[in-house]
Amino acid sequence: MTPFNKPYLSGKELHYIKEAVSSGHISGNGLFTKKSQAFFENKWGFKKTLLTTSCTDALEMCAMLLDIQPGDEVIIPSYTFVTTALAFVRQGASIVFADSRADHPGINEDDIEGLITPKTKAIVVVHYAGVACDMDKVMVLAHKHQLFVVEDAAQAIDSYYTGKDGIKRPLGSIGHLGTFSFHETKNIQCGEGGLLAINDERFLKRAEIIWEKGTNRAEFFRGEINKYGWVDTGSSFLPSELNAAFLFAQLENLEVIQNRRKEIWQWYNTHVQTLWGSQYDFTTPYIPAYATNNAHMFYLVFKDPEERTRFITDLKSKSINPVFHYLSLHKSDYYKDKHGGRDLLNSDRYTTCLVRLPLYYEMDFRKFT
Ligand SMILES: *Cc1c(COP(=O)(O)O)cnc(C)c1O
Repeated sequence: MTPFNKPYLSGKELHYIKEAVSSGHISGNGLFTKKSQAFFENKWGFKKTLLTTSCTDALEMCAMLLDIQPGDEVIIPSYTFVTTALAFVRQGASIVFADSRADHPGINEDDIEGLITPKTKAIVVVHYAGVACDMDKVMVLAHKHQLFVVEDAAQAIDSYYTGKDGIKRPLGSIGHLGTFSFHETKNIQCGEGGLLAINDERFLKRAEIIWEKGTNRAEFFRGEINKYGWVDTGSSFLPSELNAAFLFAQLENLEVIQNRRKEIWQWYNTHVQTLWGSQYDFTTPYIPAYATNNAHMFYLVFKDPEERTRFITDLKSKSINPVFHYLSLHKSDYYKDKHGGRDLLNSDRYTTCLVRLPLYYEMDFRKFT
């Protein structure tokens, strides 16, 4: 049986968890949290990062930091995970759903401007499969209309965008804020975990307070103030040291993980036509020239839903487990009545025609032939 996913383990996770336990500090913001945050800041040059208990939590922090109020509008692709939108809905935002591109499940950058109104406060882009949205286009619009940009980079660790200026920037570092996930289905994982990247200095101080339950405890621990108290909104967004220790064991092996995932991705890209092209009509992932591929996902988009079902049934009979992905959020039970009836046809097409193939470190692709 080839499952869809099997979480990677470096073998040092328990060793570091034991170290955290022995140190006597297992609540949040200890040594492994600091080591992990330093890793992100040194490796990818993020100004400031905060570990969170999930990408969902990091997105909720974004909604609080941007001070989203009832009536504010936020532009979000419909083809994404629930919490990309839910994090903003909890603050009272109205979500204006955007369609995907015809050649890629990411947001259609050319549709965004038509969705902007005087109530628009932010644009949230999702780097689907770790492949960059065209951030130059998004940032120009944001600047022109004075909007904030959040990058949901949940799938996009160690992936990059090269802008018109020729500079290659890590995803999650371009918008005002960026969020990552370390859920067990992602390239780097700790079961449940996430990260907030703060790229705009205006948010630095408040982010730390929101992270620490609305208190200025982080400043207190640094000895900058002599008592701490309730100063703002917030929640308990920081993970325990047990999770951070687990995560650090993965970060140390980043290169090994990424190389193996890229090898599997390339194998798919070279072989899918020979394997299935004569029986099925599908397209393979499109990677624009400005984007890199972090091998988070290999997907196929079929001609119609019936072909996709036939393909999934066929592979399952061979003990291989491909899975489809998001269901358009503008048609969800929770949001369809609030959406307002605009058709988002590409999002619907990916909902019914896209399938993801197994891709994990230990996968043996020789079983496919
Ligand atoms: C995985 C994922 C999330 C949610 O991440 P969690 O860490 O599980 O909260 C959000 N957005 C996207 C695009 C994702 O892929």
